[in-house]
Amino acid sequence: MHSTMQETPLSLATLLRYGTTVHGTSEVITWTGDGVRTATYAEVGRRSAQLAHGLRALGVTGDDRVATFMWNNQEHLEAYCAVPAMGAVLHPLNIRLFSDQLAFIAEHAQDKVVIVDGSVLPLLAKVLGQIATIEHLVVNGPADLTVLEGTQAEVHAYEDVLAGQPEEFDWVEVDENDAAAMCYTSGTTGHPKGVAYSHRSIYLHSMQVCMADGFGLSQADRILLIVPMFHVLAWGTTYAAMMCGATMIMPDRFLAPEPLADLIETTKPTLAGGVPTIWAGLLAHLDEHPRDLSSIRDAIVGGSAAPRALMEGLDRHGLHLTHAWGMTETSPLGTISRPPAGVEGEERWRYRLTQGRLAASVQARLVGPDGSEMPRDGVAVGELEVRGPWITGSYFRDDDPDKFDDGWLRTGDVGTITPDGFLTLTDRSKDVIKSGGEWISSVELENQLMAHPAVAEASVVGVPDEKWGERPLATVVVRDGATVTVEELREHLAAKVASWQLPERWAFIDEVPKTSVGKFDKKVIRRQYADGALDVRTLP
Ligand code: AMP
Repeated sequence: MHSTMQETPLSLATLLRYGTTVHGTSEVITWTGDGVRTATYAEVGRRSAQLAHGLRALGVTGDDRVATFMWNNQEHLEAYCAVPAMGAVLHPLNIRLFSDQLAFIAEHAQDKVVIVDGSVLPLLAKVLGQIATIEHLVVNGPADLTVLEGTQAEVHAYEDVLAGQPEEFDWVEVDENDAAAMCYTSGTTGHPKGVAYSHRSIYLHSMQVCMADGFGLSQADRILLIVPMFHVLAWGTTYAAMMCGATMIMPDRFLAPEPLADLIETTKPTLAGGVPTIWAGLLAHLDEHPRDLSSIRDAIVGGSAAPRALMEGLDRHGLHLTHAWGMTETSPLGTISRPPAGVEGEERWRYRLTQGRLAASVQARLVGPDGSEMPRDGVAVGELEVRGPWITGSYFRDDDPDKFDDGWLRTGDVGTITPDGFLTLTDRSKDVIKSGGEWISSVELENQLMAHPAVAEASVVGVPDEKWGERPLATVVVRDGATVTVEELREHLAAKVASWQLPERWAFIDEVPKTSVGKFDKKVIRRQYADGALDVRTLP
């Protein structure tokens, strides 16, 4: 029997119409460095309509790609609203990518228009010559246009594109499975891969973000979007905010710890999301200069594992971190760690440190090295595979069958799942250290090292070893003003992990190299080791 329900498409046009009218008085606040500029959702809706008309006038039709190269700010949100709701495809470009990757991605996605913040125009200008598809540049805010000399693309000022255009647009209802937006994986190996989110997947994912055991986002919240809008669409928080009417606070380019603390004290967000690197920077600042950040009831952390020391450190300042796991390929929300009611003390910590509980729409399984499914008993370790309505089933213009297994996405993450659905990652499959037939979790060693008071950051990678195949190399950044020896660190670890897991090779470094989205770049450390560029001490 077919259902009697209506087949209304889940679309961003519907979301935009709803958010900008029903929640028309909700606000979008952009930090200017020493103050704010504020617009209501209704104003953003009117300006989005003007932008859509302006883009049509530039020739944007059908599923043309409109890229952004921007910080988190009001105009970026306007592009988020206008582009998918006019039927085109939004493509936020990562402003921190290396030039070659940026050029590859923009051309691969066939970006036709790029809306770019004036402050980052020089970065884009460097690669424009390599991107033949770009016909128009729309420049937001003050900019030095001399960097564009010789470019083929037509250049327009953002406000000129909007000026005089009607404040209403007949938003387009496309097929709900059509692409609305796309992001590329950060691609630490090989070429970055494109994921195209559908109207339907974004709509459903937004509902998950709003759910009480998701981010618990509601109209009463003021969400601080620290995670860049080019990183998995700011973890889906902008569209979720539009769905529930939460006030959005955009930090623009002011992401260093001190301005971030200023912004939080001034604008009083209730919810925030960022990668561990951001929170670690903020913690170091708060330890020196205590501030009142108590407005934040929940700070979501994901992108890489959040060590306990970081969570405990921020707890001391009244900032509660909630761990979540996801990927570009998963929109990203896959799991979020909300301990069950009534669980206290150490047991509560055990839950907080997991990557979290699976969302209802995210099916998961663990696959062992021989391809067989592993039990979900919290002990058996396997590669995580997922499927669901906001999980990608392929890559854009890229056939990569190795990443898919009979309709499941192979995440490349390795870990356990408990019977009650809590995921704990022990590693990336390519980062697991395979020592004499046993696996050592690099993440476990890192977390234990970062729990030492003298350690600011630590990264552990597997390096070739004649006897064992691979052994761990620990690279450690010592906290400013602290001193510690390799022997002390090894002794600290010896109290926490099995003796055969203890690294023999150690190097003190100034900073752990990071990827464009702030993750430890282990590939670089492995290369530095192979090139003899690290000052390594080997303990007997
Ligand atoms: P990206 O596509 O850049 O967001 O990267 C996704 C990858 O980040 C995942 O496959 C994980 O390896 C890692 N990741 C995301 N969240 C977490 C987390 N909470 N703990 C550990 N790793 C994470």
